[in-house]
Amino acid sequence: MEENILTTLKILIIGESGVGKSSLLLRFTQDNFDPEQTLTIGVDFKTKILNVDDNIVKLAIWDTAGQERFRTLTPSYYRDAQGAILVFDVSNYSTFTRLGNWLDELDIYSTKNNIIKMIVGNKIDVQHREVSREEGFAFARRYQTLYIETSAKTKDGVQSAFEELVRKIIQTPGLWDS
Ligand code: GDP
Ligand code: MG
Repeated sequence: MEENILTTLKILIIGESGVGKSSLLLRFTQDNFDPEQTLTIGVDFKTKILNVDDNIVKLAIWDTAGQERFRTLTPSYYRDAQGAILVFDVSNYSTFTRLGNWLDELDIYSTKNNIIKMIVGNKIDVQHREVSREEGFAFARRYQTLYIETSAKTKDGVQSAFEELVRKIIQTPGLWDS
């Protein structure tokens, strides 16, 4: 990546309603957590400048604006994204089983066929756990995605998740520079 050129990367956050997508975005962009976080309405994306291995990139991170409830994410939501974060809630098994549908949706709508995918197991601060780290990793390995566990509440893993995703995007030829 050339120096002094601010590359903008489009990152999507998808997954079932309630898994913590908006909370992860709030934690990452504003280092904040709202326990009363309500259904996202009308927010399309937030931006953040990130320095990864001396590459300065501007992330445009797209939230679903609550539309995941109605399964109406449009092709424009997916268009030209270089990275996708697929979030599930480790304390809710059904959100894990739904990941396959979100992977299918990415396959259908992604315009970049080498888009980098990362599965994020969120809410690891919750005592009651229904999906083990091993099971999460195994799923990610099978679908050749990155895997990381987070808590938007305690900050665990949140910064690393975005950094790891961006690092992989930067290392993938033809993904960010075309
Ligand atoms: P979204 O529908 O995927 O955008 O989910 P939200 O970000 O709106 O979060 C849904 C609920 O889960 C809210 O009550 C959040 O406060 C809560 N939540 C989100 N992330 C975490 C987390 O890491 N730990 C805990 N304990 N609660 C979380
Ligand atoms: Mg939301």
